[in-house]
Amino acid sequence: MSPLLSVQNLCKDYQVRQGLFRKPSTVRAVDGVSFDLNRGELVGLVGESGSGKTTVGRAILRLVEPTSGTVTFDGTDVIKARGASLRELRQKMQIIFQDPFGSLDPRRTVGAQIEVAFRIHRLHSSEERRRRADKLLDRVGLPRSAFERYPHEFSGGQRQRIGIARALALEPKLIVADEAVSALDVSVQAQIINLLLDLRDELDLTLLFISHDLGLVEYICDRVLVMYRGSIVESGPAQDIYCNPQHAYTRALLGAIPIPDPARKRQVLI
Ligand code: ADP
Ligand code: MG
Repeated sequence: MSPLLSVQNLCKDYQVRQGLFRKPSTVRAVDGVSFDLNRGELVGLVGESGSGKTTVGRAILRLVEPTSGTVTFDGTDVIKARGASLRELRQKMQIIFQDPFGSLDPRRTVGAQIEVAFRIHRLHSSEERRRRADKLLDRVGLPRSAFERYPHEFSGGQRQRIGIARALALEPKLIVADEAVSALDVSVQAQIINLLLDLRDELDLTLLFISHDLGLVEYICDRVLVMYRGSIVESGPAQDIYCNPQHAYTRALLGAIPIPDPARKRQVLI
């Protein structure tokens, strides 16, 4: 079967002006990135801050315009899509952000924010919207009473659940999770990751899980792509990358993972 998403030779340049009177210079944030996501796969995109991960994630959803390269989703050219076909793509691909508070409107109820996607896409009657919003709240493990409440009444983990419910509203096929758990405590991180894993099985989702934390990605992803300065320097099954990293940068990323076993730590010290 053809991959759900295919990214070929993606490049993105940003114009940056360092001083008021200086000429703008060009920063190549993404430099020739190519990869496929197969249907149902959970792929990790890892790399240190500034390596270009967010730019890749956003370019896939056309939230930034790439400088060159192609993105094909389910046979449709994402970069060339306009009008109705772009709207359809926007239903099928969703993003979850690191900071759900920043992406939620503090003045609107949780229910209104879940339903907004239905309104934008002119889907369903008002009763059906409510029914679907209740179902989404159930699915992400929030009480139905959350519908009438405001984002500030919830904890960080619950807000991320709201963000996930909103992302699921239009029944997407692909979710890009950009540092979706990075701001959460470790125990809450595990709950949100388990939720994403359950949803993936239940809804047959394909997930691109972006993180600077290779240790986290290793446990949950089928395959890992390692980014360094705008390029993918290594890719393969998570276990192979973890046990036998080929690139010096990947080894450095792995070296940054704390070892919880004191016996192993002592061995290293001696
Ligand atoms: P990551 O998500 O891996 O931290 P980003 O994709 O956010 O990386 O950034 C990659 C590079 O592009 C960085 O050097 C960053 O400073 C630069 N960059 C990102 N967004 C912009 C922007 N809007 N304008 C200028 N430079 C940007
Ligand atoms: Mg980022």
